[in-house]
Amino acid sequence: MDFQNLKKRPLIIAGPCSAESQEQVIQTARALHKTKKVQIFRAGIWKPRTRPGCFEGVGEKGLPWLEQVKKETGLLTAVEVANPRHVELSLQHNIDILWVGARTTTSPFAVQEIVESLKGTNYPIMIKNPVNQDLSLWVGAFERFQAASLNNLCAIHRGFSPGIKGKYRNRPSWEIPLKLRETFPKVPLICDPSHMGGKRELIEHISKEALELDMDGLMIESHIKPELALSDSHQQITPPTLSFILQNLHSYFSKGHSGKSKLDKLRNEIDPIDEELLEILYRRMNVVHQIGLTKKKNNILPFQKSRMYGLIKNRITKGIQLGLKEDYIREIYQIIHKESVEQQTEIIKTN
Ligand code: PEP
Ligand code: MN
Repeated sequence: MDFQNLKKRPLIIAGPCSAESQEQVIQTARALHKTKKVQIFRAGIWKPRTRPGCFEGVGEKGLPWLEQVKKETGLLTAVEVANPRHVELSLQHNIDILWVGARTTTSPFAVQEIVESLKGTNYPIMIKNPVNQDLSLWVGAFERFQAASLNNLCAIHRGFSPGIKGKYRNRPSWEIPLKLRETFPKVPLICDPSHMGGKRELIEHISKEALELDMDGLMIESHIKPELALSDSHQQITPPTLSFILQNLHSYFSKGHSGKSKLDKLRNEIDPIDEELLEILYRRMNVVHQIGLTKKKNNILPFQKSRMYGLIKNRITKGIQLGLKEDYIREIYQIIHKESVEQQTEIIKTN
């Protein structure tokens, strides 16, 4: 897998949260392969659980099952690694792609150890965003790999811990992955709607949003019998359901289409707002003209310093209340006020 030259877009990665048994792995992989829509088979071998006592993965014994998947279906395989031992075992078992999980990205020490264990290879690595909404930690993980000449990288956006319970298991905060993309424009960026939503009902909607933002692919958890899954049971879907969802998303697939249409939509929103803004400026100018005539009649000069300061101060206060920047409002009103005074000066001179 060469992430720097993605041949197929969107990249679709699917497979169970955890490898549980040989049968579950092989059956899931066969069914996913049958959809003809999946390129990479994922499965957690070592599960980083937030609380101990949950299913922590089958460990090393699951790796030959993935070798079998690859041999039988031709799907590329991917597992999560959290330390150099995981890396070593995965390499021994010919796993094609490794990923760094959200909990691991949070720890620069752990990331660095993984980097050291891969030095000298050009292994394809996917890096999930850290659990907490900290762009620098995510960027830092990329920098650590790149500093070791490991450049075959991909980013996975799986959302950020929300702190309080809400609609999402992990809040999307879409601006964060978009900022990551600005920093590393050549690194493919894919979305993991399964961990973001935490519920299977949210997968299609989140995927649509990601594709509208022109993300390069999706990682979706799929299990042959989701209701029996030993981890993340609520968010896993069967391979036929995955196929159905991907079919529904098909119109978002063609490169550039979705991102552009989203942009067009937003631009269409801004056009009428600007029209309104111009009409308001025109209405304002009409009042300015009337004031000019009144000033002329009463022999008042067009420029009144105290009025200008008072007006700008008042508008800045209002603007700040709306969340606008002080300097922005000041500059706009300086321009508006200057033009008003100039027009009134004309009126007083000519009428
Ligand atoms: C996973 O992919 O199964 C996983 C544990 O994800 P995350 O690191 O995003 O929580
Ligand atoms: Mn999972």
